[in-house]
Amino acid sequence: MDIKAHVLHSGDMEADYTWLLLKPDRIIKPVQERNTPREFGLVPTHAILVETPEGRMLWDTGVPRDWAKRWEPTTFDRFFPVVDDAEDPEAGYLDHSLAQMGLTTEDIDLLVLSHLHFDHAANAKAFDNGKTKIVTSSAELEGVKGITGYNQGAHIPSDYEGLDIGGIDGDEEILPGVSVIQTPGHTWGTMSLMLDLPNDGTKIFTSDAVYMRDSWGPPAVGAAIVWNNLAWLDSVEKLRKIAQEKEAEVFFGHDADQAANDIRWAPEGFYS
Ligand SMILES: [Zn+2]
Repeated sequence: MDIKAHVLHSGDMEADYTWLLLKPDRIIKPVQERNTPREFGLVPTHAILVETPEGRMLWDTGVPRDWAKRWEPTTFDRFFPVVDDAEDPEAGYLDHSLAQMGLTTEDIDLLVLSHLHFDHAANAKAFDNGKTKIVTSSAELEGVKGITGYNQGAHIPSDYEGLDIGGIDGDEEILPGVSVIQTPGHTWGTMSLMLDLPNDGTKIFTSDAVYMRDSWGPPAVGAAIVWNNLAWLDSVEKLRKIAQEKEAEVFFGHDADQAANDIRWAPEGFYS
């Protein structure tokens, strides 16, 4: 089966790691270190372009170019500012990464959003082109119905409102070798992506079901903002079981060390 996956840069943020990781020794300081700085660092995002004989799929869309304006009403512009590439401020965003692959949003047949947070669904409206089918989990679509106002936590409805977004109910093989796994807890309907690749084996992209390698453990380590902690923990253990059975490589949603050292980034690198 001819299937090729490309990991695309879709924007790096910077943040206080306490948001992502409530880990004693690493993030939480002993009282004696009350005057030492907190741990700030990069919070990278990625999108996955999957080419299959049945069409091109994209997983997630990263952060928007107009993040400063769009996030200002939420204060995320202060907590998660996007860090531009020092050499090329145009680089790093999804449209640039797609262009490096010779593609525009119109070349994407299916856009799958892991969930509808501001750093995953932000560029969804660029795919409102009459050609791309857009889906996310049914539970996420149901959850966001209750949001009033400009944002609720990290959901900004204007990122995706008005789009025709289809719902996925369960764990499902959406294209040959391409499956979504329901991993709720971070939000109502966060999903993970699993690729069964002929040469490189099984790859699991957790999105925000697991932020970082340090979140994965075992034991799993929680984060500052989780919609439902018990569901979140069940989802991490569900992924761990699948990953062990399939001897899968696991890619975390926002791990700076993994992003810097252990990903074959597009446009040169790929998985097949
Ligand atoms: Zn999220």
